[in-house]
Amino acid sequence: QAKEFGRNSVKSYDETYGQDLIRRTQTLQNLRAALSRKEFSLNYQPQIDAFTGQIVGTEALLRWQNRNGEWIPPDQFIPLAEQAGLIGPIGQWVLEQAIRTQRKWLDAGISPMRMAVNISAVQLADPELPAHIKDYLNNSGLDPRYLEIEVTETAIMSEPAIALETLGQLKEMGVDISIDDFGTGTTSMSQLKSIPAQKLKIDRSFIASALTDARDAAITKSIIQLGNAFNMKVIAEGVELKEQEIFLQKEGCHILQGYYYAKPMPEDQMLVFLQEYSSE
Ligand code: C2E
Ligand code: MG
Ligand code: MG
Ligand code: MG
Repeated sequence: QAKEFGRNSVKSYDETYGQDLIRRTQTLQNLRAALSRKEFSLNYQPQIDAFTGQIVGTEALLRWQNRNGEWIPPDQFIPLAEQAGLIGPIGQWVLEQAIRTQRKWLDAGISPMRMAVNISAVQLADPELPAHIKDYLNNSGLDPRYLEIEVTETAIMSEPAIALETLGQLKEMGVDISIDDFGTGTTSMSQLKSIPAQKLKIDRSFIASALTDARDAAITKSIIQLGNAFNMKVIAEGVELKEQEIFLQKEGCHILQGYYYAKPMPEDQMLVFLQEYSSE
């Protein structure tokens, strides 16, 4: 039908929608086989103590290179994996792999630090999650307090009863809970009060505009104050500039993460980074 509008015309709605659907269907087919073809990997990004400058942890970020060699961003394939019921096994692979990596770093002489792992809504609604995590930790002999789970407000609120129960059990085990992308969800203050989290992670969008938009600066400051009042640590993600670091330090943000310090990188590269950083 697009032809009727002329060769150079804007694509019709149907054509764009059709192509999108084909692409999603193909991605989904490839995604089903990605685990067994070992196409997933993890990158790691350091988290820095805002006051001492020490690396206090890393966040594990999932990467997928399909068999055509294309890197598909997680924002694209994770929602698909969730809808298709594939996130369970993928999420378990991520947890196991991240914990295994942490074990390797420890064995290589790196002092223990936290590993933050992103958990999706579907995983959080699985009552078996704490038991799985306990197994992975036991198998690698890691102290639970070096594991941190990053969950969004949206993920918690999709099945709040089970999610709160699961998070409570993880907290009991000594695992830290961090609320990711904080400020972009719809959690009320009374709901926030009942989430057993130790950390608030300020969404990148607020950090990106904190220096140019007074409202984003105000939101950032309020989240830091809220965190302090709730006895929680506050992390800023997406720190790209020295000026953002200065602003966040001045406001009392505890932990900083972003391209200004390092981009997410593969395990081997991260190990070298950790070794060099700690010897500086
Ligand atoms: P997120 O957990 O909020 O992760 C932060 C994202 O910001 C990452 O994108 C990271 O690479 C990026 N980032 C870090 N520093 C900077 C910076 O200074 N500037 C900019 N512009 N970006 C920065 P990434 O790796 O593409 O991941 C996107 C999202 O995909 C994550 O957001 C998370 O929601 C999801 N995700 C990634 N890995 C996993 C996973 O293993 N499981 C689940 N369920 N979700 C994951
Ligand atoms: Mg995260
Ligand atoms: Mg985030
Ligand atoms: Mg995010």
